[in-house]
Amino acid sequence: MEIEKIIEDTAANLLRLAVVELPADVKEALQSAYREETSEAGRVQLEAILKNLELAEKENSPMCQDTGIIIFYVKAGARAQGLDKIEKALQNATRRGTEEIPLRPNTVDPFTQKNTGDNTGRYIPYINWEITQGDAIEITAFPKGGGSENVCALGMITPGEGVRGLKKFIIDTVIKAGAKPCPPNIIGVGLGGGADIAIKLAKKALLSPLDQPNPNPELARLEKELYEAANSTGIGPMGLGGKFTVLGVKVDYAHRHPASYPVAVAYQCWAARRATARINAGGTVEYLTHKVR
Ligand code: SF4
Repeated sequence: MEIEKIIEDTAANLLRLAVVELPADVKEALQSAYREETSEAGRVQLEAILKNLELAEKENSPMCQDTGIIIFYVKAGARAQGLDKIEKALQNATRRGTEEIPLRPNTVDPFTQKNTGDNTGRYIPYINWEITQGDAIEITAFPKGGGSENVCALGMITPGEGVRGLKKFIIDTVIKAGAKPCPPNIIGVGLGGGADIAIKLAKKALLSPLDQPNPNPELARLEKELYEAANSTGIGPMGLGGKFTVLGVKVDYAHRHPASYPVAVAYQCWAARRATARINAGGTVEYLTHKVR
């Protein structure tokens, strides 16, 4: 089979897997929140979310009506075949997924409000590129819901405020977001670089598995502190009160200009959809986040 077709088929499968079934780490985090939630209203919400997930898998249909705006992360091996075919293959996969899964058509022209109807449009599906060693292509489908996107925030704090200032900005963002992003959420935090770099890092941090601690002990401590602080707000599942406002907080950083301290907060809802596969040099495909049924 031609490489373009392999990439298209893999990406179409990834879109389906992502919207139908959460990765194991997110499912486990939701199950553990359900076991540990002490608020009755919070437990009822978590139970409904878990039942909804079960039903989506059984029926092979999307877990939420908002199937998001389509984003891909691509790790392209410098020696991989077909690098020039990836963009077109991902666009075709998005069109196919929209029809076959189906995905809700979500790409609207900001000026005319016209919906393209197939989830493609200017810069969409958006592709985040990374050149890696080797000859494999790793693709992550990341359909991103609108409700959680609407509460993402970027702050340029005063460098003198330092870590105290960044914690305050993040928790203020959580309180302001309240029930809007369909909690329990995953929060990605990006620090430093510049405004664009911080928000890129924050969003990419949402791909980090919840069951793997940050390898940097200082960041792991900060993540735990922010996780506890966010959960002490009492916003709770779907904003109805409880212990679990967030399932996890993931932090990444870049060095910064001495005069700038960008802090970005990217939000993900309980429907934390992501699916990854690796296409090896010979065209074999390994699915890394899901079992292919
Ligand atoms: S925020 Fe997430 S769970 Fe809520 S409606 Fe949007 S996609 Fe669905």
